[in-house]
Amino acid sequence: MRSAAELLATSRLPAAEARALLALRLQVPRERLIAHPEIQVEAEDAAAFEGAAARRLAGEPLAYLLGEKEFYGRRFVVTPDVLVPRPETELLVELALERIRPLARPRVLDLGTGSGCIAATLALGHPAAQVIATDASRAALEIARRNARQLDARVAFREGDWYDAIADSGSFDLIVSNPPYVAPADPHLAALKFEPAQALTDGCDGLACLRTVVSGAFDRLAPGGWLLVEHGYDQAQAVQALFRQHRLRPESRADHAGHLRVTLARRDAGPPEAAPV
Ligand code: GLN
Repeated sequence: MRSAAELLATSRLPAAEARALLALRLQVPRERLIAHPEIQVEAEDAAAFEGAAARRLAGEPLAYLLGEKEFYGRRFVVTPDVLVPRPETELLVELALERIRPLARPRVLDLGTGSGCIAATLALGHPAAQVIATDASRAALEIARRNARQLDARVAFREGDWYDAIADSGSFDLIVSNPPYVAPADPHLAALKFEPAQALTDGCDGLACLRTVVSGAFDRLAPGGWLLVEHGYDQAQAVQALFRQHRLRPESRADHAGHLRVTLARRDAGPPEAAPV
């Protein structure tokens, strides 16, 4: 038997990560390992912990090893079927919530929902919102459904490609999407090899899915409705151009790292009422 402290110290992982993995294996709160580093760990648990640590050292996301990730203050189940929620996506959620808050019963569409973190967070942030979330991946939708259920978020899910999934669903006050936008040639894609490729890259130029989302938005937005998309740190100009091609006047917002990360626009409320003569 070895002590928790010894196992943690020899794992070569950052302390917090090592502690999270060992606590999961032992089914104890992480704090317990801080308060009681002398806890004795059975050989079987030690071996399992070392296996998990080795996978982490090989680059597997901690979230997959733990089976969960925190997003906007809530825990979401994640598996390799879905992208791990990123902190920069909280910006997208923040901007979306600001826009639906004043509306009584906003109709919201999340395209390519993955883990469901955006859709569930919006539904919980505005309980009267009618949120529809889509994904082409059935496996991802299963995770998203599970997250919505566990968090008590009211979201309707539809399987299918982008707008094909919601053919007869009427118009929306807000459309939001964090589509796959990493170009296949982007060297940083290699570092993301544990996550589903179809959630990260379009296999094209990084803009193919954004093009689909932006080009279909105007017709599905209610007058005065908003489109918000997340994109790569170097794509704001290209995405703004797409918005303009599709009758939307864009602005972009920076994430905490200072990268323009979200582009948004409001569909015109329509021609102004004729002025009284
Ligand atoms: N933000 C992710 C990354 O670059 C990519 C997410 C996406 O393609 N939607 O790691």
